[in-house]
Amino acid sequence: MKEILGGKGANLAEMTSLGIKVPPGFTITTEVCDYYYKNGKNLADEVKTQINEKLAELETKMGKKLGDSADPLLVSVRSGAASSMPGMMDTILNLGLNDESVKGLAQKTGNERFAWDSYRRLIQMMGNVVLEMEHADFERILEHAKESKGYKYDTDLTTDDLKELVNQYKAKIKEKKGIDFPQDPKEQMMLSANAVFNSWNNYRAIRYREINHIVGLIGTAVNIQAMVFGNLGDDSGTGVCFTRNPSTGEAKFYGEYLMNAQGEDVVAGIRTPLNVLELEKQNPEIYKELVDTCNTVEKHYRDMQDMEFTIQQGKLYILQARNGKRTAAAAVKIAVDLVNEGLIAKDEGILRVDPNQLNQLLHKQLDPVSKAEAQQIAKGLPASPGAAVGQVVFTASEAFQWTADGKAVVLVRLETSPEDIDGMHSAKGILTARGGMTSHAAVVARGMGTCCVAGCADISVDEVNKTVTVKDSGIVIKEGDYLTLDGSDGSVYLGKVATKDPDIGGDFGILMAWADEARKLRVRTNADTPHDAAVARNFGAEGIGLCRTEHMFFEGERIKAMREMILASDVEGRKKALAKLLPYQKDDFIGLFRAMEGFGVTIRLLDPPLHEFLPTEEEDIAELSKEMNVSVQQLKEKISDLHEFNPMLGHRGCRLAITYPEISDMQATAIIEAAIAVAKEGKEVHPEIMIPIVATVKEYSILATRIKEICDQKIAAAGIVLEYKLGTMIEVPRAALVADKIVEAGAQFFSFGTNDLTQMGAGLSRDDAGKFLKEYVAQGIYEYDPFQVLDQEGIGELMRIAIKKGRGVNPDLKIGICGEHGGEPMTVEFCHREGLNYVSCSPFRVPIARLAAAQAVVRENLKK
Ligand code: PEP
Ligand code: MG
Repeated sequence: MKEILGGKGANLAEMTSLGIKVPPGFTITTEVCDYYYKNGKNLADEVKTQINEKLAELETKMGKKLGDSADPLLVSVRSGAASSMPGMMDTILNLGLNDESVKGLAQKTGNERFAWDSYRRLIQMMGNVVLEMEHADFERILEHAKESKGYKYDTDLTTDDLKELVNQYKAKIKEKKGIDFPQDPKEQMMLSANAVFNSWNNYRAIRYREINHIVGLIGTAVNIQAMVFGNLGDDSGTGVCFTRNPSTGEAKFYGEYLMNAQGEDVVAGIRTPLNVLELEKQNPEIYKELVDTCNTVEKHYRDMQDMEFTIQQGKLYILQARNGKRTAAAAVKIAVDLVNEGLIAKDEGILRVDPNQLNQLLHKQLDPVSKAEAQQIAKGLPASPGAAVGQVVFTASEAFQWTADGKAVVLVRLETSPEDIDGMHSAKGILTARGGMTSHAAVVARGMGTCCVAGCADISVDEVNKTVTVKDSGIVIKEGDYLTLDGSDGSVYLGKVATKDPDIGGDFGILMAWADEARKLRVRTNADTPHDAAVARNFGAEGIGLCRTEHMFFEGERIKAMREMILASDVEGRKKALAKLLPYQKDDFIGLFRAMEGFGVTIRLLDPPLHEFLPTEEEDIAELSKEMNVSVQQLKEKISDLHEFNPMLGHRGCRLAITYPEISDMQATAIIEAAIAVAKEGKEVHPEIMIPIVATVKEYSILATRIKEICDQKIAAAGIVLEYKLGTMIEVPRAALVADKIVEAGAQFFSFGTNDLTQMGAGLSRDDAGKFLKEYVAQGIYEYDPFQVLDQEGIGELMRIAIKKGRGVNPDLKIGICGEHGGEPMTVEFCHREGLNYVSCSPFRVPIARLAAAQAVVRENLKK
């Protein structure tokens, strides 16, 4: 009944009807709030009558009367809407205290200080919430009182100090509002209820609902509940417990408590709480009641519970129960255990783990204890998860060399470039000062499963003098110094922090097997090397959705041949250089086909603009000039020839193949020769050749015709039967709009390159936009960074158009996604809904996509 009672009210009512000892109370419904606003902020008389009736019932139940001068009942008045809005609305505690009842409370509890402290807190809360005075009005008086006595903590205040504070608070109210602090407890209660209703529409509550897309609620409920106290002597206490261990998931009762204390004392850390298991020795009866209660609540809610309890003079009360927060490891274990215990079905078990959380389990992690103690010096973007500890180096070649010498290194760069590939592969971690979540460093690091913190604006990197300076603190890190990176949250630590290895236990495997049974989407991987392909296959990848061939041109001798090709002045020269690359490419593809035996392997033709293969630094240019026997002058001319103002919109992708068809000829030859070779080994191969950056049908048909001719001729010459597919990426908006025609021209598959589709569709630079997108997200212009979570409304619409047009011509058209979004759970769900055949993502995201794809099915079934 959340809609009517609010989350808190419904939960308290439900526990009460389960027979759990919750402090008694009643809830004024959200409908009353709705009426309150429609009735010029007035409560109906009937509601007032009902409140009085319910209060009388509560008084009978508690055997005390509100405001009684001998033994007063105290109540709390709390907000609670159908959706949780933590801290956004108001709460008033200790209602029912006045100049008389405070004395009664003091006498009854034998704790005068407690009574007066409760009273001064009530005045402060009412002054602030009901009378709308500044919090600071009271804080100033309190601070002044402490200062004048030389106290450090609120707890140092004596009973007399508190009495004096009450006087001063009341005087302040009189001064500011011209009224006396209300002494009638019923008036206090009604005023507080109105104040809670008013807080439904305070600025922060409205903003919270906007930001979190909470719509369609009619208002907040108001919960009026008897107060219980854990600080009424040695037979009282308070604590927090979990029905299972929230770090490991182990099915063992877990928690902490303090006797003769209030919740605040536990939180403030003034006293050290005891392990809840101690309670068994201290008070076995209460302990047993607590454990039994926790079991009942867990069984009822069918999930691990995080509960707050108070013992008031030997009586146990449960104040709150909610599904407990947990680590990834605990989430997996609890989900599997709950299914095995028969508490939930497999489908529900699948929904119980947040796919993104799995990241924590697949990579090396920082040891939580050491992480808490470590010196954090900066924070960047969490570009690729995991942890890295190593000595700082500033160039990719040093990263390679130092690693070869047996050292662990962290590669620090302003930003990385494709040339850095070897060094990036060697480094334990990568830190860049610039670039966003889809920057080169981020994409490549995620692909390799290497920890990476990108776009770390807190540091400045001096690549010449080889230093990193932390802007805030001025700390300087030199080559060889140790740094630790946490790629899961983007933090950078000075020195070495202890790490621990990934923990993929049996429960993980069980959960993933359930996910595989449920899901309909296939999950492929983006991988460029047999090693990455093998890693991905181990994580459950069913083929390669994107092999970026350009990464193969940087290693060792290959870059020389590539540069020779670029610098050649005619077709013959280019062909000669390409002939040198052919055997390398063929070998690479053989490795990939073998690693993915039986599955589809999509290989993309060369994509980036050629200038990316040429050096930019003076000394590198001079070195290349010697190596190639070309003058520095000529080299510089070539580089300047290739310069483009907007290289991402420039001479790249199929545009290269159109102008230099000999490049795609060589690649097609290498792919098909490799496939023939592996097929001849008796292995099942499914090559898929993909043309990037297609915008027009002609681009596709010209290249497809040429590639097909080469492939068919090679296969015929080999005398075997080998099926291959030809298709295109959909990453230029125009291609989405003419998708039907591209299929008519023979395309057998589409793969959405949502990185470029987002870049070109939204007109946002994937390399630079990160800087202001944060602000865009903060202002709600985009709900999420569109390079991380697919913009379903806009870019998603381009995809829907392409799917409809493409499948309109060929209903069996195979469609996948290979942009960074392919491993993002919300996007995976979108892809499932839109009927894609597969998603493709970096190896370490494969399990995430598998689980997300399964959840999409389970949610769809639930809706049905
Ligand atoms: C894309 O654009 O989404 C894509 C996968 O290609 P790349 O990231 O290599 O440009
Ligand atoms: Mg692209």
